[in-house]
Amino acid sequence: MSQARPPAPAAWDSIGLVVFDVDGTLYSQRLLRLRMLRDMMVHAASTRSLDVPLVIRAYRRIHEWIAEREVSDFDTALVAETAEATRLPAAKIRSIVDEWIECRPLPYLALCRYPGIEALFAGLRRKARTIGVLSDYPAVAKLDALGLEADHVVCASDKGIGILKPNPRGLKVLIDAAGVTPSETVLIGDRAERDGAAARRSGAWPLLRSAEPLDGWQTFVRFDDPIFAKFLDA
Ligand SMILES: [Mg+2]
Repeated sequence: MSQARPPAPAAWDSIGLVVFDVDGTLYSQRLLRLRMLRDMMVHAASTRSLDVPLVIRAYRRIHEWIAEREVSDFDTALVAETAEATRLPAAKIRSIVDEWIECRPLPYLALCRYPGIEALFAGLRRKARTIGVLSDYPAVAKLDALGLEADHVVCASDKGIGILKPNPRGLKVLIDAAGVTPSETVLIGDRAERDGAAARRSGAWPLLRSAEPLDGWQTFVRFDDPIFAKFLDA
C-alpha cells in the first residue's frame, strides 16, 4: 500500500499539489503562544479577570477531543462545550476566541514565521506546483500576515467542511479544487495524528515537520532541507 510508504524526494515529479497546514507548520506555534501568554497576563492583571486564559485553555483542550471524535459541525459543539466548562455564555466564548485566537496573534505572526518558507513557496510556483492551505482555524488573515499566498485555502469552519483533521474532508475538497488525484498530493504538517492521518486517509503523501525522527513518517527539520532542493535551486 502506498499509504505505508514514506514519500521519497524523487516522488516530487508526480506531485501537482502541495498542501500546507498553518499553525506549527508555517510558523513557530511555541513562540507565538509565549507572546500571547505574556499579553494575556497583562490583560488579566489590568482587568482583574482570568476569563481569557481560562476560556482559551478550555477551548484548546476541547478542540483536541472534538477533533479526535470527528464531531460534525464542530464549531457549534466546541463553543457550547467551552461555555459549559467555563460557565460563561456562548457569545462571550466567541468574542474571546475571535479576539485572542484569531485577531491578536496576527501582528506577531511574521516574527514567528519559519525561515525558508517564502523561498519554498516561490520555488513551488516556479516549478508549476499548485499550493494549497488546509487549516483547522481560519487561515486567510494569517496567510496575509505571514506574507504568503496560496492558490486554494480550505479551513475546517468553511461551508461544507465543518469537521477537523484527521477527518480528510477538507483535504479532499482541496484535491478536487486543484484538479489532481490524491497520489499527486503532498500534505506538509506538524502533527502525525492530525495532518499525517488526514493525508493517509485520503491517499495523499504525508510529510511532517519535526526536529526528531518520527517512526513510520517522512520528516524534515527546516524548509531548506535537501528534501526540498528541487524547488530551491534558483
Ligand atoms: Mg499544525
